[in-house]
Amino acid sequence: MAKIFCIANQKGGVGKTTTTVNLAAGLAKVGQRVLLVDLDPQGNATMGSGVDKRQLALSVYDVLLESSTVAQARVASEKLQAAGCGYQVLGANRELAGAEVELVEVERRERRLKTALTAVSPDYDFILIDCPPSLSMLTLNGLCCANGVIVPMQCEYFALEGLTDLVNTIKQVRANLNRDLAVIGLLRVMFDPRITLQQQVSEQLKAHFGDKVFETVIPRNVRLAEAPSYGLPGVVFDPSSRGAQAYIAFANEMVARVARL
Ligand code: ADP
Ligand code: MG
Repeated sequence: MAKIFCIANQKGGVGKTTTTVNLAAGLAKVGQRVLLVDLDPQGNATMGSGVDKRQLALSVYDVLLESSTVAQARVASEKLQAAGCGYQVLGANRELAGAEVELVEVERRERRLKTALTAVSPDYDFILIDCPPSLSMLTLNGLCCANGVIVPMQCEYFALEGLTDLVNTIKQVRANLNRDLAVIGLLRVMFDPRITLQQQVSEQLKAHFGDKVFETVIPRNVRLAEAPSYGLPGVVFDPSSRGAQAYIAFANEMVARVARL
C-alpha cells in the first residue's frame, strides 16, 4: 500500500507545488512508484509535470464527483518517463473550483478522495497530494486520506504564526476524520543562508519542532523557478543544479523516514 502525503500550507507562494513536483520526480528517480494528485484548481502541479491541464479528458474533479475512477483519469508525461523520472498524475484544472460547491450537497464529501485512492493504493509506493492555498473542502479531502503532512515554509518572520492555523486544522482532522494524520515534517524552502533573519527563524523552528524539521534544506535556486515553463520538474530540467540536488536529497530523506513509520 502507498504512503500518502499532503503537501499543505494555507499560504500561497510558499513552495508547495515546487515541492510536490520535485519530490515526485526525485522519488521516481530513486525507483519509487509515485502518483501525484493535483488538488489545486490552478493546475500548476499538472502543468509542471508536463501534462497540459487544458487537454485533460478526465481530472481529479471527475474523481471527486465519482464520474470517473483514478485508474481512468490518471495520466503520465512521456518526457518525464524518457528522463527516468516518470510518475503518474491525477490532474486538475479550473473545473475543480466548482467541486467545492457541488460537494456541499453530497454525503461523506470529505472522504471522496480517500475512497477513490484506496483502489489504486497498491500500484504505488508514494501518493503526493498538492493542496490549494486554503483550508477548504479540497484540502480537507487531501488531509482525510493522508498518512502525513509535509509543510513547506520560508524562514520568514511570520512563518511560525501561520503554522498555528494549519496545526489546529490537522488536530481537528485527526480528532474527527483521520486518526492516522501526523505532521511528518516542516521543510525549509527558498532558503538563503546569507540572510541572518532566515538563519534565526530556521534555528527557532528547530528549537520548537525538533526532529519534525527535515534535515534537508531547499535553497533559493532560479533553476527551480524556470523549470515549470518547460513543463518539467527542476530535478529533470537541470539535475545538477543546487535546487535539484536538494530535492533528490529530500526524496532520499523521505524514503528513510517512511521506512521508520
Ligand atoms: P505554492 O504552490 O505554495 O503557491 P510554488 O511552488 O508555486 O508555491 O512557488 C511559488 C513561486 O516560487 C513559483 O514561482 C516558484 O517557481 C518559486 N519557487 C519555489 N521554490 C523555489 C526555490 N527553492 N527557489 C526559487 N524559486 C522557487
Ligand atoms: Mg501551488
